[in-house]
Amino acid sequence: KAKGRGRNTYQWYTDELNRRVTERVNLRHALAQAIEQEQFELHYQPQIDSVSGRVVGVEALLRWQHPQQGNIPPIDFIGLSEETGQIIPISDWVLRRACLDAVALNRGEHAPLTMAVNVSPMQVQRPGFVASIERVLAETGLSAELLEIEITEGVLMDSTEHAIDAIEGLRALGVNIALDDFGTGFSSLSYLKRLPIQKLKIDRSFIRDVTCDENDAAIVEGVITLAEKLGLTVLIEGVETREQFLYLRERHPTYLQGYYFARPIPLDALIDYLDRFDQHAVLRDLAGA
Ligand code: C2E
Ligand code: MG
Ligand code: MG
Ligand code: MG
Repeated sequence: KAKGRGRNTYQWYTDELNRRVTERVNLRHALAQAIEQEQFELHYQPQIDSVSGRVVGVEALLRWQHPQQGNIPPIDFIGLSEETGQIIPISDWVLRRACLDAVALNRGEHAPLTMAVNVSPMQVQRPGFVASIERVLAETGLSAELLEIEITEGVLMDSTEHAIDAIEGLRALGVNIALDDFGTGFSSLSYLKRLPIQKLKIDRSFIRDVTCDENDAAIVEGVITLAEKLGLTVLIEGVETREQFLYLRERHPTYLQGYYFARPIPLDALIDYLDRFDQHAVLRDLAGA
């Protein structure tokens, strides 16, 4: 009996393994096609200054419109694309698209708007990373101070020396650096000291219960105090409710981003949003609270 179960278990593992390998091979081919046929799209999520009520920038978030499977979220393919190296052509496309759209956005009445772009560890490690950003800025005509590169601690853990050089190189171009998902990794504090970072993005996991969980509230407040002392700007991610917005705005003058204001949306929807956006309404909302 035990033997039979063992065989079944083995069979199950083999099937599972085959299924996963097949899935990965399929995904890899699908990604190759996506790159070739430009099935990618960028959606943009507004970032709001809680003091002025203005939209100060947007974050570019990658979307894959698969012809059969529809929208595939980045967590489902970025990891694999890093393993296969496909992240390189994908991120080249992302950077160029984001910079072109930033130039268009900054031609209009909503300027100045910063454009935040996420980069992966592998991208930063590649020789010529800084040069490739410099080239895209020159080719698209975007001024460096309107570009913000979002790095995570993953970028710094893999090859610290090279990563630090790359980040300093970006900074020398005039590009701003934000540390994303702050608080979810480890030894974050030493990076703050060593790197020319301008902004901390507090991870949304601390915001979910910030209005009712004293520990989360203490962490958020502590990070903001620390950031202020270090001369860093703070952006709070994942603001979903009016209650969270009012809570945060009342206590902390920071930048805010989250579904409460807007989900990530295509460029034309973003332009509509900006046209309709009323910074005074944001401030009134507060006054009315
Ligand atoms: P991230 O950089 O931390 O991006 C924020 C994620 O939180 C986005 O998910 C966004 O849609 C989501 N989000 C924003 N506001 C809220 C909110 O109020 N509530 C909740 N629950 N979620 C919110 P998304 O677009 O699925 O992206 C996931 C991750 O994929 C990103 O996390 C980033 O690490 C990565 N990613 C996205 N685009 C790119 C890209 O172009 N290049 C690279 N290398 N990574 C990317
Ligand atoms: Mg990000
Ligand atoms: Mg984040
Ligand atoms: Mg994240």
